[in-house]
Amino acid sequence: APAAFTDAEFYQRSFDPQEYLREFCSLSNAQGQPNTLLTQSLRNLFNMFSLDGLSGHTLIDVGCGPTIYQLLSACERFQEIISLDYTDRNRQELEKWLKNEPGAFDWSPVVKYVCELEGDREKWAEKEEKLRKKVKQVLKCDVTKANPTAPVSLPPADCIVSTLCLEAACKDLATFRSALRNISTLVKPGGHLVMVTVLQETFYAFNKQVFSCLCLERSMVEEAVEGAGFDVKLSEVQPYVPGDARTDCKAVLSLVARRRASTT
Ligand code: SAH
Repeated sequence: APAAFTDAEFYQRSFDPQEYLREFCSLSNAQGQPNTLLTQSLRNLFNMFSLDGLSGHTLIDVGCGPTIYQLLSACERFQEIISLDYTDRNRQELEKWLKNEPGAFDWSPVVKYVCELEGDREKWAEKEEKLRKKVKQVLKCDVTKANPTAPVSLPPADCIVSTLCLEAACKDLATFRSALRNISTLVKPGGHLVMVTVLQETFYAFNKQVFSCLCLERSMVEEAVEGAGFDVKLSEVQPYVPGDARTDCKAVLSLVARRRASTT
């Protein structure tokens, strides 16, 4: 049976950012096996943030967790970035890296990997600096709220990116659909949504904690995105090779959509 739903308060109490980073954001695990979930995502994000029109002034990262991998290609296309997550510890861990404080996670192998995709592995330190300068705010958000950043109201951005968040944050398909409508208010009409979502996953685990995941099919995600007022521009599924004890994920969906002009 799927793991019982782990709500935002469970994340607040039990999601250990440092353990998550160690487990899911290193290029290879303790046994030396490559972290294909991460490298696939990096390649997909590089491709999506190379598309025409995927640029502008402001980018908002929804459910950022303690991670920056999802911003490494994006930061070349946007001037300012705002990162949002529910838990205090995730936002603090992110701030630690942004301020280059001792004990911050070492992202340099991941940054080098992305720089190599972009054609120049040597510019990794420059990219880290660029990203650190561009992230202007790190704020609390709850994607289940009509205004996810309440009581703060952000001006709508040119683009929102969200990786592995909504399927973790939503207990059922109705909540997933409404969460997409909620986050759609963070992006301008004509602006873009970039998503990386795991498919047919019911759980992921690390640090002896199990987190529930809404089990999604590609069509469910696409329909929810369309239903939230977006036109899907790109939707690509890549199978996830079985044999990973940490999760029962079957595939990864990369999606780009454009918010329709409002009709009201
Ligand atoms: N985007 C990161 C983190 C994914 S883990 C990555 O790609 O690795 C899932 C994230 O969803 C966690 O950081 C958790 O704090 C966040 N989350 C869970 N429920 C949420 C909610 N209701 N609103 C906003 N974020 C939520």
